[in-house]
Amino acid sequence: MNTSKKEIILSPEQSGKLADIYTAMVEGYDQVAAEVGLSCEGCPDNCCDSYFLHHTYSEWAYLWQGLRELPEEERKAIIGRAEKYVQESRAQLARQQRPQIKCPLLNEDGLCGLYNHRLLVCRMHGIPATMTRPDGQSMRFPGCFRCQEIISDDKKYPQEQDAPAMDRTPLFREMVALESSLLGDKRHLFPRVKLTIADMIVQGPPAVDTPFCER
Ligand code: SF4
Ligand code: SF4
Repeated sequence: MNTSKKEIILSPEQSGKLADIYTAMVEGYDQVAAEVGLSCEGCPDNCCDSYFLHHTYSEWAYLWQGLRELPEEERKAIIGRAEKYVQESRAQLARQQRPQIKCPLLNEDGLCGLYNHRLLVCRMHGIPATMTRPDGQSMRFPGCFRCQEIISDDKKYPQEQDAPAMDRTPLFREMVALESSLLGDKRHLFPRVKLTIADMIVQGPPAVDTPFCER
């Protein structure tokens, strides 16, 4: 069958929706972080070298919107770092190690070079969170190591579960709805996304094979 690639592009409304979801995540994060007293300032760790996989075309497309807005030189430098990241992460995975490599979007000052387009995980990692899965199963995430230390030292919280947590469920539902609106009834044509930020950069903007008859 003849195929060609068709880029998956967020409409302005879909971009706006994702920006709203991201903003709500940050607000929810800030509220819980303030309650438990978590701040990333002075943290000896830097989560930007954590190995995270991302799962939506919406975020992938939004990441590329941000990359395209950067000056070309900057984008080229990021792509170069992403290529090295992909190579090195493959080597570490082959050695059965969980990769720990700086995100290619980290700039020379150690700051996120695409802050407004950073992904969901970058906005949520750190604080305790809960989520009810579509099958009804409840999950609880304890937060990063620093948050867990703060909570275990705080007499207010006899147990970890007593600490405040952000409920991710409504925002994740909104993400799922956005993904459905982006992919529409062609969802079956789209392979599952399971990519690092570096993979998303190296592979280019999300695109899907379209059968000749649908071009
Ligand atoms: S989220 Fe936690 S581990 Fe990561 S930088 Fe912030 S305080 Fe440190
Ligand atoms: S996108 Fe930005 S915040 Fe997220 S891991 Fe990369 S540098 Fe860190």
